[in-house]
Amino acid sequence: MNQYIELFKRGFSDYGGYLWREILWKNDPWYENWIYWLIALSLLVWGLEAWQPWRKGQSLFRRDFWLDGFYMFFNFFLFSLVGYNSLSMVGVNLFNDLLSSTFGIENLVALEISSWAPWAKLLTMFLLVDFISWWTHRLLHRVPFLWNFHKVHHSVKEMGFAAHLRYHWMENIVYKSIQYVPMAMIGFGIQDFFIVHMFAVTIGHLNHANLGWDYGPLKYLLNNPKMHIWHHAKDQGDHRYGVNFGISLSAWDYLFGTHYIPRDGRDIELGYAGDELMPDTFIGQNLAPFNRNLN
Ligand SMILES: [Zn+2]
Ligand SMILES: [Zn+2]
Repeated sequence: MNQYIELFKRGFSDYGGYLWREILWKNDPWYENWIYWLIALSLLVWGLEAWQPWRKGQSLFRRDFWLDGFYMFFNFFLFSLVGYNSLSMVGVNLFNDLLSSTFGIENLVALEISSWAPWAKLLTMFLLVDFISWWTHRLLHRVPFLWNFHKVHHSVKEMGFAAHLRYHWMENIVYKSIQYVPMAMIGFGIQDFFIVHMFAVTIGHLNHANLGWDYGPLKYLLNNPKMHIWHHAKDQGDHRYGVNFGISLSAWDYLFGTHYIPRDGRDIELGYAGDELMPDTFIGQNLAPFNRNLN
């Protein structure tokens, strides 16, 4: 037990130090700085919204702009600082100890991809993470317990880039836990792939941006603003458990028949049945899934 408590504490202080060096731009390599990349990409997509707004009447400081901006930094950094890093270190160790003590499995690696060419590793990693995330996202819509957490993301009423990272911290845990075993099986953790993650952040920001883009024929491959807005539509016809679950790739939705773009979605109402019950503060939204009266 003590070893887990030690790990928990170490995860905490390690991440605190790491984050502080990140702010001071002192981590190596200098070009893999999460904070400044996130800020730069956000400013870029926000600039595109200002330049070519889809809904011309929507303010650049749309409804919940600051709330969603806070979610962005919270989910990217603060959540790790206040515990996820520690919890995941403990979780991974517990899991590995359990595997070796109960099943005698010392090594999960089934396919060692570390010797592959960099582009092949990156592509494998990207496709695998995106595919697992697509299924996880479906699960968030299908299981009522998980949907209560995912509602926070769907409570956005006016769409803009920052809505991308507006989601309950529990989603971090759900996504990462489900990804862990398949990632361990190819011998990698998601933190090894800065460029893959930044690509996903860019696509995710664009999906939520006030931009009338679908990238032409690439729309069958890449998720895009015109498609993702229907994921947030209050009225999705007969689709009770959601449509357009794509994270970075739209291809999974076309492959599995969950795509739905009945018409131009520029001015549709966003949300879900019952969204008026969602509190409008950060604290309120984070507590909402635990409150029976709100679900
Ligand atoms: Zn969703
Ligand atoms: Zn979304």
